[in-house]
Amino acid sequence: MKVLVTGGAGYIGSITTENLIAQGHEVVVFDNLYQGHRAAVHPKAVFVRGDLAVKVEISAAIAEHKPEAVMHFAAYSLVGESMQKPFKYLQENTNNGLNLMEAMSDHGVKKFILSSTANLFDQPERMPIAEDERIVPGSPYGESKFIMERALHWLEKTHGMKSACLRYFNAAGASEERGEDHNPELHLIPLVLQVALGQREHISIFGDDYPTPDGTCVRDYIHVCDLAQAHILALAALEQGSRTYNLGNGQGFSVKQVIETAREITGHPIPVKITPRRAGDPAVLVGASEKIRAELGWKPEFPNLKDIILSAWQWHQAHPHGYGDAKH
Ligand code: UDP
Repeated sequence: MKVLVTGGAGYIGSITTENLIAQGHEVVVFDNLYQGHRAAVHPKAVFVRGDLAVKVEISAAIAEHKPEAVMHFAAYSLVGESMQKPFKYLQENTNNGLNLMEAMSDHGVKKFILSSTANLFDQPERMPIAEDERIVPGSPYGESKFIMERALHWLEKTHGMKSACLRYFNAAGASEERGEDHNPELHLIPLVLQVALGQREHISIFGDDYPTPDGTCVRDYIHVCDLAQAHILALAALEQGSRTYNLGNGQGFSVKQVIETAREITGHPIPVKITPRRAGDPAVLVGASEKIRAELGWKPEFPNLKDIILSAWQWHQAHPHGYGDAKH
């Protein structure tokens, strides 16, 4: 199938592109490279540098390449930033997504896979969090993804658009060739590995007084390749109807457990400093993945935290400055 991947130069988009190509699909990457990296784009993908904010750019790309489906990764994705800059999220993320959906509708493209988020569940009543949990977006970022989910709901009724909304928990790890390179880097695992590489003195633990076994926040880390595979399975299942899945590993690990595992893997002492809590961090976020397992036969290939961190470590060792020094 020919798939247009927005944000295919970013972390999850580039690794999903790699997996799509490995499984025989054709990929057109559409990315403005504000956050993504040209070197992250698979050499067998067609690359279109374009901006979703400019509707004619995405419209022209769809008209020219005629994809059968779209996977939409391109978005601002920082919860904390969205609390400081709500319009960037409520306006740009939603406007860009709607431009994409309108361009698809104009050209009869009726398959949509959305990168959604666990940030839809700010006040979960049950843990692990299932798909039918009450939706309470935790930030303007989460709200912007929820608006995308609702838009897809309506486009199915008005245009016959089939969609899969995949609500990620904490994506982590790397493939052999592609990994996580954000600027600035704010995520726990790459920051911990930067300490092991000698690029940072210590890792800050944002609060050790949470109501969890060791006092630090618990998250559900899912290997990015398992996440990529979930997109490909969801795409194949769209003919049978639209769907929504929570995508986690089903297991929670604390910040201290992540750091301890990284110490074992890297052999570096990884000094820590306890700092105050980060605003907006819930104590525990763990996803239930029974639905996607039962319906699509999805099963994480890398469920162990050790394997997830090891893959990230191998990539960061090979690319100590991310894509900045990649020889592609
Ligand atoms: N965290 C931390 N120190 C850091 C970065 C993150 O203690 O320098 C914690 C953060 O509070 C959260 C967990 O690590 O509990 C995962 O954070 P990350 O930003 O990677 O993902 P999030 O859960 O916010 O999507």
